[in-house]
Amino acid sequence: MTDAADFLERTRADAGRALTLAMAAAAARGGLAIPFAWLLAGAIDRAAFHKADATSLAPTLFALVALVLLRLALALLTERAAVMASARARAGLFRRLLAHVRALGPIRLAGQPTGEMVAALTDAVAALDPFWRRYLPALASGAALPVLILLAVTVAEWRAALVFLIGAPVAVLFLVLVGQGAEKASQKQWGNLTRLGGSLLDAVQGLADLKIFRASKAEIAIVAQMAEAYRRDTMAVLRLAFLSALALEFFTALAIALVAVLVGFRLLWGEMHFHAGLFILLLAPEFYAPLRALGVERHAKMEAIAAAEKIVALLDRPAPARPRAPLTPVLGKAAALRFDNVSFSYDGGPPALENFSLDIAGGEHVAVVGPSGAGKSTILSLLLGFIQPTSGRILADGFDLAEIDLALWRAQIAFVPQSPHFFDGDIARNVAMGRAPPDGDVASAVARALRDARAETVVAHLPQGVNTPLGEGGLGLSGGEAQRIALARAFFLPAPLILFDEPTAHLDSATERELQHSFARLAVGRTALTIAHRLETAKKAGRLIVLDRGHMVEAGAHEALVAAGGLYARLAAADLAPPDLAPPWPEGAAP
Ligand code: ADP
Ligand code: MG
Repeated sequence: MTDAADFLERTRADAGRALTLAMAAAAARGGLAIPFAWLLAGAIDRAAFHKADATSLAPTLFALVALVLLRLALALLTERAAVMASARARAGLFRRLLAHVRALGPIRLAGQPTGEMVAALTDAVAALDPFWRRYLPALASGAALPVLILLAVTVAEWRAALVFLIGAPVAVLFLVLVGQGAEKASQKQWGNLTRLGGSLLDAVQGLADLKIFRASKAEIAIVAQMAEAYRRDTMAVLRLAFLSALALEFFTALAIALVAVLVGFRLLWGEMHFHAGLFILLLAPEFYAPLRALGVERHAKMEAIAAAEKIVALLDRPAPARPRAPLTPVLGKAAALRFDNVSFSYDGGPPALENFSLDIAGGEHVAVVGPSGAGKSTILSLLLGFIQPTSGRILADGFDLAEIDLALWRAQIAFVPQSPHFFDGDIARNVAMGRAPPDGDVASAVARALRDARAETVVAHLPQGVNTPLGEGGLGLSGGEAQRIALARAFFLPAPLILFDEPTAHLDSATERELQHSFARLAVGRTALTIAHRLETAKKAGRLIVLDRGHMVEAGAHEALVAAGGLYARLAAADLAPPDLAPPWPEGAAP
């Protein structure tokens, strides 16, 4: 709980001056209740008991109207500043979260259920809004106003101040007592909401599988069960909320009544001026109002703490430590790569790659083959900087990957994954991916890239050409077409290093050959590392690296390796490796 509370404290800084302004305006608006009550009580006193006429009362009445207008203006200012503060704080938090998610990278995030992560990034950030927008301003006036009123009342009639003082702690006590129960209840409610969101997302993503295996009924039952748990928890939170509101109302009403009785008796006994008495009576509800408001907004804080826990959980996942002043790599047109005794294990498991050393000269084309689970994708993940070697180093043109700026390094890589991911947007956007060519002319660079990748035919068939919207995940494209668009992505900007994870989907051989040709053109004059799943590719590669259980077991050209009769010969006889199941990173998480 303290973690989340600390975190909330720190987010105040993001809200900046707008929040200070909102809190100051809220407190000032509350404070104006005192002169207002004083003037109003005075005017009524003079009109009722001193026979004051309209002209002598006019200045007071004008002042009262002015105060009302001023309070209205301050209320508006509070509202606007608070909305701005909340927007700033949420934007700042969202930026930090995204930066952290980026630093974590796809491999570290893979352990996190997508639904929960989405909840942390969206629902949880949104749930913090009432905390900045309503709770903190309410807290400011709740802290300032009672003290000011108490001072004013003490000056007018110290006995009434005593009654005020007795009532306040009781109200605060109830706030705290009920609040603690509500806190636990909202945390539980939030946990259920996240799980519910997660399984709904899973169910929608896996709809086809659910249908095929006739599992949708069972899945519906699970979701329904979660929805029911969520409903129960929501009701528990509401019960507590109503209970605390009721208790607060009751005690404040009691305290106000006590003040009224006291003032009434003292007026009766002639021990008090009517002006002072009415002043105190008018202020009594104002004294408790901010406390009541705080009681209502406390739930905003409870929600915020529960939501902050989700965010803290995501922020607490350690990102790899990067040097603070990363080197800026100056790579040649074709980068030379060196794996120097590299080992890597996933989360303390057995090594996925062990003492792996490999030198690739600038401009060389190397293909990696091996059975499933041999460590091929791990090599790609290491090169892409998604994971860092447990021991050993990877050098690019002499620069240690651990020490260079990852964003700059990734900008040097053209990566064509097995199953490319497409984003909501048209084809042009999915080819450019937010990058700009040196001459700044994105449209012609997209056209050139599509031509180079032989993808113009794909685009020509589409109704709106490059402006055809692609659904998320490339809806409407066949495997081969998707690969061609992905190749166009790689052609868009020249890169010194090209990584290619061959598609294993059932592409017809003509498409396959076409892709091979495009890829060969892309790799001309550059360093290329291909994970070969096709015998054709392996045959053509100048150098083959054969991996088995994290070790390089053979290396050489196709004929020599077949003649040697080792693992490669066996793999080649079976048309190389059976297709890998899934790549170890979420689809399309590549740079
Ligand atoms: P390949 O791509 O050759 O099939 P991988 O590099 O994907 O092999 O996997 C190498 C080994 O590392 C396998 O034993 C696999 O089970 C393990 N592995 C791969 N990805 C992960 C991961 N994200 N977490 C844990 N283990 C993994
Ligand atoms: Mg793999």
